[in-house]
Amino acid sequence: MSKKGDGSAVKDPGAEPTLGTNPFEGTLRRLREAFHSGCTRPAEFRAEQLRALGRFLQENKQLLHDALVQDLHKSAFDSDISELIICQNEINLALKNLQAWMKDEPGSTNLFTKLDSAFVRKEPFGLVLIIAPWNYPVNLNLVPLVGALAAGNCVVLKPSEISRGTEKVLAEVLPQYLDQRCFAVVLGGPEEMGQLLEHKFDYIFFTGSPRVGKIVMTAAAKHLTPVTLELGGKNPCYVDDDCDPQIVANRVAWFRYFNAGQTCVAPDYLLCSPEMQERLLPALQSTITRFYGDDPQSSPNLGRIINQKHFQRLRALLGCGRVAIGGQSDEHDRYIAPTVLVDVQEAEPVMQEEIFGPILPIMNVRGMDEAIEFINRREKPLALYAFSNSSQVVNQMLERTSSGSFGGNDGFMYMTLLSLPFGGVGHSGMGRYRGKFTFDTFSHHRACLLCPAGLENLNDIRYPPYSDRVQQLTRWALGSQSCTLL
Ligand code: NAD
Repeated sequence: MSKKGDGSAVKDPGAEPTLGTNPFEGTLRRLREAFHSGCTRPAEFRAEQLRALGRFLQENKQLLHDALVQDLHKSAFDSDISELIICQNEINLALKNLQAWMKDEPGSTNLFTKLDSAFVRKEPFGLVLIIAPWNYPVNLNLVPLVGALAAGNCVVLKPSEISRGTEKVLAEVLPQYLDQRCFAVVLGGPEEMGQLLEHKFDYIFFTGSPRVGKIVMTAAAKHLTPVTLELGGKNPCYVDDDCDPQIVANRVAWFRYFNAGQTCVAPDYLLCSPEMQERLLPALQSTITRFYGDDPQSSPNLGRIINQKHFQRLRALLGCGRVAIGGQSDEHDRYIAPTVLVDVQEAEPVMQEEIFGPILPIMNVRGMDEAIEFINRREKPLALYAFSNSSQVVNQMLERTSSGSFGGNDGFMYMTLLSLPFGGVGHSGMGRYRGKFTFDTFSHHRACLLCPAGLENLNDIRYPPYSDRVQQLTRWALGSQSCTLL
C-alpha cells in the first residue's frame, strides 16, 4: 500500500501482503521484472507510450486545468504555456526523433581496430525514479517522464504531496494510459520517501530543494545510483545604468511574478545602482498595475502561494528592508501582492534563503564589477540575468560568473527552446535535460567494439614479446592518432 495525497491509501496492484516489509517492494519488483523482459526496448513500444502520454494530456486538459487552479490559482492560459504545451512539445519532439536518437553512434577506429565496428549504444538504465516538486506540477513530472520513456526505461513517478490537485490526477488517471507493467506512480511525503529510497534504482532524477537533494543523493550513494539533481537557489539579476528602466521593469516583473514567483529560474533579487533603483521603482509600479490592475488580488493572472506554510514564510520576509511597492497579504486567500523591497541588508533572511514567491528585493551595487564580486562569493545560481544596452557588459557578466543558465536582457524565455539544455551547476544541481538532453540523461552511453572472431594473425603484433620494430610501429600508430594505451 502507498499513501494517497489526501491521506487515504491506494492499493499497489503489484504488492504482495507486506506486513512489516517495505511497502514499495511489490511495485518495484513488478517494474524490474518488466524491464528485464525487454518489453520497453523496441522503438514501437516507446512510441506507443509517448503517444499515450499525449492522449492523457489532451483528454484530461480540463481536469489538469482544474487541478492547477486548485493548487496554484493558475489561469488556463498560464497552465497551457507553462505546463501542458511544454509537455506536448517534448512528446512531439521525442516522437519525431526517437529512431534517430536511439540509433547507434559510430565511433572512429585506429590502425589496430580498422576491421572492427566501433559505436556508442544508447541503452536504457532500467528502473528509474523521478521525484518532482509542486511549483510546475505537470511540467516537472512529465517532461522528465517523456525522456525516461523514450529511452526505454521503466519508471516510478513521485509527484509532490503538496500540489494535491495535480498529484491526484497523476496518480489516478495517468496510469490508465501507460503500460502498468512498466510504470507506477507512488505517493507520500518525507517518511514514505525514506522507505522508497532504501531501494536500488538504476537512475534517480530529482527536482526540488538543495536540502532534499542532499538527502536523495546520500540515499543514491548507498547503491552507487547515478542522479540528476535539478535544484534551486537565489538567482541574481544585474541591471546596468544604461538600461531603459521601463523595458527592464516589464521583463523582470513578468518573470518574477509569473506563478506568484514560485519559479525556480525567476530572478530572486536585483543588483543595481541607487540611481537605477530610483528610475526602476516607478517603472515597476506602472508595470505591475498594467499587468494586474489596481487590485492585483482580483487579477485572474496572478497566482497564489501553494500552502499556508509557504505563505507564512513569505509574509515573514516582507519584514526585511523597506516595502517600496506592494507588501499587502491575505492569509485566507494565500495572497501576497507583487512586492518590491529596498534598503535590504545582505544578512537579512530575504537575501539568505531562496524567496520562491512574489517578492523582489533590490540590493545596491556600484556597477558591474561589484555585482560580479557579490555573485561570485555566493553559491552558483540556477539562473543569472544581466540587463544592459552594452553587449560588452552582458558578455562580461557571462564570462566572469557561473550559473545553470544565463539570460541577457530577458528572463526565462530560453526555457521555451528545446535546443538548449536545462540544469544547475554546483549548489543549484547537476545534470541537464529538455529535448534530446533528457533522452541522453536517461540513456547509458555504452561503448561497444565488435571485432571479427577470426583473423588472429592481424592481432599478433600486439602480443609480447615486442620486437624493436613492433614497439616503434605501435608507438607510431597509436601516437599518430593521439591515442594512449591504458
Ligand atoms: P522539496 O525539495 O521540498 O520537494 C521535492 C520533492 O521531494 C517532493 O516530491 C517531495 O515530496 C520530495 N521529498 C520531500 N522530502 C523528502 C525526503 N526527505 N526524501 C525524499 N524526497 C523528499 O522541494 P519543493 O518545495 O517541492 O520545491 C521547491 C524547490 O524546488 C525550490 O528550491 C525550487 O527552486 C526547486 N525547483 C527546482 C527546479 C529545477 O528545475 N531546478 C524546478 C522547480 C523547483
